Amino acid sequence: MTTQPLTIHSWPRAILHIDADAFFTSCEQAIHPELKGKPVITGKERGIVSAASYEAKGRGVERGMRLFEVKKVCPDAVILPSDYETYSLFSVRMFEILRRFSPDVEEYSIDEAFVDLTGLRRTFHGSYGEIAKKIQEAVERELGITVSIGVSVSKVLAKIGSKHKKPKGLTVIPGREIHNYLEKLPIGKVWGIGANTSEFLGKFGIKTALEFVRKDELFIKTHLSKPYQEIWHELNGWSVYPVSTETKRDYQSISKTRTFTPPSDDETFIFAQISKNLENACIKARRYDLAATRLIVFLRQQDFRDTGVELKVSRPTAYPAELIESLKNGFMKVYKPNTLYRSTGVVLAGLMPEKSVQYTLFDDVTRIERMARIYGAVDELSERFGKHTIQHASSLPAKLQSQHEGERGDVAMRKTEIFKGENKRQRLGLPVLNVKV
Ligand SMILES: [Mg+2]
Repeated sequence: MTTQPLTIHSWPRAILHIDADAFFTSCEQAIHPELKGKPVITGKERGIVSAASYEAKGRGVERGMRLFEVKKVCPDAVILPSDYETYSLFSVRMFEILRRFSPDVEEYSIDEAFVDLTGLRRTFHGSYGEIAKKIQEAVERELGITVSIGVSVSKVLAKIGSKHKKPKGLTVIPGREIHNYLEKLPIGKVWGIGANTSEFLGKFGIKTALEFVRKDELFIKTHLSKPYQEIWHELNGWSVYPVSTETKRDYQSISKTRTFTPPSDDETFIFAQISKNLENACIKARRYDLAATRLIVFLRQQDFRDTGVELKVSRPTAYPAELIESLKNGFMKVYKPNTLYRSTGVVLAGLMPEKSVQYTLFDDVTRIERMARIYGAVDELSERFGKHTIQHASSLPAKLQSQHEGERGDVAMRKTEIFKGENKRQRLGLPVLNVKV
């Protein structure tokens, strides 16, 4: 009985589910190669483990464990604060890789997605498993993280596939083989079936996913509500859940803030701070090949009152030279003379992959290409000699003032966001970039 396939046709649909392996800590290891092979944990800011690398899991570290307990089981663990902004940038890039293979990508969570590959075998000259392999390799090559993938005829089955083998697993479940994967799978492990439902099904002698799908439709309709009927269909290999391509882009932003003490009402100084925020945010965006479609500018007064303004960008970009005019306009809208401010901030929002930015008729393509070359050189110099080796003229007062007042010792500059390793880099005080293109 159990050897009989559930779905006779192997690929009525082809749905891929991708799930990054130990995502947060993998991102950290990708950015900091010296952490590769080491037990890495994130969650320092909360005092509990929010994610653990496979090395840490192997030593008995579990999600939700308190950090003092971690120190007992794994004294050499590297414990880092969570850097969600960076993880979400990896996420954007991962989804973008998926969209090169199919337009139908559902961003399910920060590190999981469904992709509809139906009908794409000819396009990619290979089986669905081979397409999945290409995706897996592209993510590892381009982002330096590994993923596990399941490919099957429905979303629920694809998810079973991606969990089947981890890390770096690739499990293909064609219609004819579904039963082999459901035979030993406890029903409670199926996506969407909780503890109560599996207990309820247990009363009918249903313990495994296969026992569940072998029940006839009448039984299912009599005893279960619609969501569970749908899961039953999906497990049988009849796809009912569509891959929904609405993107969840809210978290795709980069923010940079600067706090200064004592508070200041000096317009030039404050604008220099915010100009530096913009440069920093743009450096980060370019590092991840992203371009912003919206710019948010905000100032915080001494009494912690915030004023901000959101501006649309004429063309998605990560070049300060293209954003500086908007920044000035935004700044003039929120800045009030004779008011003391304690911090400034810039958010680059609505980020999209830089290479998918389309030129319009109104763009001066030569100018944009010239800018790309200039900033390419700036980023290269910054890589070699440290950030702000070259900087915008408008940011200069921030640097001069912080050096000058730092000498007097009465002004402490504090960056609220530190990009690891940045501080140690040498500052050479090289020329100022005055981009007029
Ligand atoms: Mg994951």
